[in-house]
Amino acid sequence: MAGSQTALREANRATVIETVRRYGGLTQVELAAATGLSAATVSNIVRELQGAGAVDVRTTIHNGRRAQLVTMVHRTGIAAGVRIGTRHMSIALADSAQQVLVEQTLPLPHEHRADTSLDRAALLVVELLERVGSSLGELLGIGIGVPAPVDAATGTISVPGILRGWDDAPVAQVMSKRLGVPVFVDNDANLGALAESRVGAARLYQDSVYVRVSHGTGAGVVLSGRLHRGFAGTAGEIGHVQVDAGGVVCLCGSRGCLNTVVGAPALIEVLRASRGPLTLRDIVTLAVDGDPGCRQVVEDAGSAVGAVVAGLAIAVNPQCVVVGGELAETGEVLLAPMREAIRRRVPLNHIAPLEVVAAELGPQAEVIGALLLVLENTHELTHWFEHQDGD
Ligand SMILES: [Zn+2]
Repeated sequence: MAGSQTALREANRATVIETVRRYGGLTQVELAAATGLSAATVSNIVRELQGAGAVDVRTTIHNGRRAQLVTMVHRTGIAAGVRIGTRHMSIALADSAQQVLVEQTLPLPHEHRADTSLDRAALLVVELLERVGSSLGELLGIGIGVPAPVDAATGTISVPGILRGWDDAPVAQVMSKRLGVPVFVDNDANLGALAESRVGAARLYQDSVYVRVSHGTGAGVVLSGRLHRGFAGTAGEIGHVQVDAGGVVCLCGSRGCLNTVVGAPALIEVLRASRGPLTLRDIVTLAVDGDPGCRQVVEDAGSAVGAVVAGLAIAVNPQCVVVGGELAETGEVLLAPMREAIRRRVPLNHIAPLEVVAAELGPQAEVIGALLLVLENTHELTHWFEHQDGD
């Protein structure tokens, strides 16, 4: 009986922490409403967490009344990570101890433009800082991930046509002018690679490849523990490797790129006759639920991506290929044919087999990578890496 009560108290404590992190900061009354716990329970848990140095409690005025605002305790120095997708934007804040303080996702319109999306991102960063009880003065920098190759030196997109409405936008410059902090821009697959290599599935390896199979497909390459971007930031752009010489013309201008075969519009089109109009999310959900048509399409995509990744793996010789992106949420439906396609093409060696594994950070990989990009570039992680090396 005593044991189950302890377990219940621990579960309640975890729920409170998770809820504070989701909203950034809430009053105790809001915490009770959001968790479904009684006011007394919330008050006890908050007092415990405050005693343990996990949360901060400040008196504020909320709806004209005095209220106790609960936020996560954070170390000085906050990084903002922004991931721009084709239809969504995710923003997270983390402190220099890499603790995620708050995160939020919002929808973006079809073919959104750089100026309006960056405006919204800047406003949201300020709003989230306030919500976690901080301010712009504490912001170290902003990391931004975009689904296109980026010239990291200038923070602009280096290949035109891939992300319409963003081609000539000086992304880093615009954002740093808005908020007055350093801004680091990179390709989303590169950020996923950085995150998985530091704190995810590839953390034990020096050489790894991260493959992002989502609306489009891309890869990030980590060599000797460092992200390899290439001269113009196009290293790992496997979505534009030709797989069908007579295929459809791609956004980049070439014919029959991998993206024209496994990109979301292609998968949706293949299923249209039998399943009607679906979204990529629908295809993932149906494949997980066992729909044979959707599974077939995801499996075929896995084989096609695997064949291209094999070429990259031969060029790079990584210890591990980590697979993320929305399609990876189908688990082995995507992963098994992909692993098979890679293993069939990459020569076995006597040292160690090439691992092909699922990403550990899931849909958060890119935004965590954006946070790490800021912390690494502003040298806030020096101690952390020294600590890791000493372990
Ligand atoms: Zn292309």
